Amino acid sequence: MLDVFRKAGFAVAAEAFADRRYEPDGTLRSRKFEDALIRDPEKAARQALSMVERGVVIAFDGSEVLVDAQTLCIHGDTPGAPTIAETVAGTLRELSGLLEGLKPMLLTETLPSFAAELEELLKKEGHAGLAAQVSGLKIIDRCRCGDDFCASFYTERKPQGAYGAGHRCVELEPETGMLILDIVADKIVHVEVLYRHDIREKLLVSLP
Ligand SMILES: [Zn+2]
Repeated sequence: MLDVFRKAGFAVAAEAFADRRYEPDGTLRSRKFEDALIRDPEKAARQALSMVERGVVIAFDGSEVLVDAQTLCIHGDTPGAPTIAETVAGTLRELSGLLEGLKPMLLTETLPSFAAELEELLKKEGHAGLAAQVSGLKIIDRCRCGDDFCASFYTERKPQGAYGAGHRCVELEPETGMLILDIVADKIVHVEVLYRHDIREKLLVSLP
């Protein structure tokens, strides 16, 4: 089918599924089976990652199946679909820094004035090493705690639990709001920004 359309001159994008289990022959596992749907967001994200990174999917029996897909489907009627979509998107966004053609979301491009403010504050308060990281910071995801005063975001992958050894906080004193950095092994991993509606509004647009 794809070849027919390609030969006819159409731009074709094949589709793969983040939230469906595959059979060893590459077809989708029938919905009559209990394990046809992937409901766990982390598992769906791992499947999406393996399709993007390695071009393979692990079938229900553990075998590897080649997939050549340019678009990714998540079914709106899968239970927990919004969480699955968020987790898959976050995982791929994090990877995007490594993939050609997919641009990482740079702090300096998404929130240029805040990036300048952060760099300035860090320099002023004697954190030259951290200030030097600002130009390369990527926004992996925003905090999704739901508080309407929160404009925090992650610059490295969100940990499963708490930040472990080598974690420290650096509190800065902006003109408005609150600003605390989480540092792990001397790298800025999370930027806690509170009571800054200007930043929150822009983040909500970039990361719905
Ligand atoms: Zn939050």
